[in-house]
Amino acid sequence: MRPNPTASAASRPNSAPRDIDEYIAAFSPEVQAILQRVRLTITKAAPEARETISYRIPAFTLSGALVYFAAFKKHIGFYPPVRGDAKLEKALSGYAGEKGNLRFPLDQPIPYNLIERIVKLRVKQNLAKRAAKTKKGEGSSRRSMSSRTASCSCGQLRIRVEGEPRGVGICHCLACQQRTGSVFAALASFSAPFEVFGTATEFVRLGGQGAQFIFRFCPVCGTTVFHTEDGRTESVSIAVGAFADPNFPAPRVSIYDSRRHRWVELPQGIKTFDKDPT
Ligand SMILES: [Zn+2]
Ligand SMILES: [Zn+2]
Repeated sequence: MRPNPTASAASRPNSAPRDIDEYIAAFSPEVQAILQRVRLTITKAAPEARETISYRIPAFTLSGALVYFAAFKKHIGFYPPVRGDAKLEKALSGYAGEKGNLRFPLDQPIPYNLIERIVKLRVKQNLAKRAAKTKKGEGSSRRSMSSRTASCSCGQLRIRVEGEPRGVGICHCLACQQRTGSVFAALASFSAPFEVFGTATEFVRLGGQGAQFIFRFCPVCGTTVFHTEDGRTESVSIAVGAFADPNFPAPRVSIYDSRRHRWVELPQGIKTFDKDPT
């Protein structure tokens, strides 16, 4: 089901690429053109899917893992194996590699139409799975929303959340300034459930009102990715920058305005608090 994480290592540098652009940029112009077209084919077949890097290779998610692809010396690998559509499986039989993963040889035309059919099948399957889960009655509305993944800069530590943030704010407190190395922190809080991938190192800080905040950062690259309040599991605060999404919802509140660097200008309509209002 899952691509072999070491399979593409031979043709890739050691560090994980940040995004699909960076992944593609590492190949020859000819292969880049193919990879871009594979990516575009997926995007067109599944406009709602989100791009990411998983197992160090390009991945798309839509209510769970959708498809992955990778370039090798002589072929493009495509995952996971196709199941549940006999016609399509037959059409793909000439491309089946080990464990049913697909290999599209680079010296032959890439079957983009088949890629499109695979992606559409995977979308259908993922949505059916989600509908079945929703029917079971747990958190119906939240499960039907899209998910977001925040990541440290090396990709080792990630957290996936569902639905829209409960709140987005910026904090100018000195602790946040020191923690981030920036002059303010941008944070988004999300309701549980959330899923963490990778290992985190923890740092516990006592907040101004006596609460203990457990900050999680990546022990490899040092990015501070998220924190929770001790004893509270119903929500998580995530560093907005870790989503690497310039279209992420803008902050609505600004706290510890008393510590704000004087050159920092706030967006219009934002609610400001001298300290932490909670
Ligand atoms: Zn990292
Ligand atoms: Zn703060």
